[in-house]
Amino acid sequence: AALLEVKDLQVSVADREILHGLTLTVNQGEVHAIMGPNGSGKSTLSHVIAGKPGYEVTGGQILFKGEDLLEMEPNERAAKGVFLAFQYPVEIPGVATMNFLRTALNAQRKARGEDELSTPDFLKRVREVSASLGIPQEMLKRGVNVGFSGGEKKRNEVLQMALFQPSLCILDEMDSGLDIDALRIASEGVNALRSPERAMVVITHYQRLLDYIVPDYVHVMSKGKVVKSGGKELALELEANGYAQYQEAAA
Ligand code: ADP
Ligand code: MG
Ligand code: MG
Repeated sequence: AALLEVKDLQVSVADREILHGLTLTVNQGEVHAIMGPNGSGKSTLSHVIAGKPGYEVTGGQILFKGEDLLEMEPNERAAKGVFLAFQYPVEIPGVATMNFLRTALNAQRKARGEDELSTPDFLKRVREVSASLGIPQEMLKRGVNVGFSGGEKKRNEVLQMALFQPSLCILDEMDSGLDIDALRIASEGVNALRSPERAMVVITHYQRLLDYIVPDYVHVMSKGKVVKSGGKELALELEANGYAQYQEAAA
């Protein structure tokens, strides 16, 4: 069975339908890019998969490892292996990043029936991963994302991914607000997590990110639907010709 199956998904926000029957299948080991203009519903899709409140699913279904994802609480989804790196990572003042990482990791391990990591093992892992991402230890003492630059927030999301080892990583506009060096470092961190067991959904507006994280499949979203799917060459075609042709097709 597929890792993730989104079937004819319809979603409303504040009584307005945003996703109008979206279908997407992602298998283990695959990297899918979702491209589309602002307002096409990319973040809405990622939020609904992660279980962010405020969205009403009015039709369709989402299966993850064959189970009904929409029946699960957000923390159950995380424990099952769904991870969303937010377009706008939230700040959590008063909770040191290190404590947040440890609590979240242990909660997930517990939900999977695994033992907690010992303090030395946890610290060793965090140090290794944060060093590879160029995250200073001092940053981990600060409140989660509090006073982090755009690039630091995105690297902190990749750090979480590397620690939690999810089966499905959804990256929502990881490239927004990143300069070229930060983008390269974050992308290398993401590429290091590619594996035959893990799948990724990379959401982006621009082709540039896909020079760094090369997808197996590209989907174009317009007005709440996938309007075209193809291989990685589709991203280059979009870069050359723009989204307008697909917006007309969706209208
Ligand atoms: P994208 O990520 O592709 O830019 P979004 O999923 O953020 O698109 O938004 C899709 C559409 O849904 C937009 O028209 C946006 O204004 C609307 N939308 C998203 N979230 C809300 C919300 N909380 N309240 C009202 N409208 C929303
Ligand atoms: Mg947007
Ligand atoms: Mg968005």
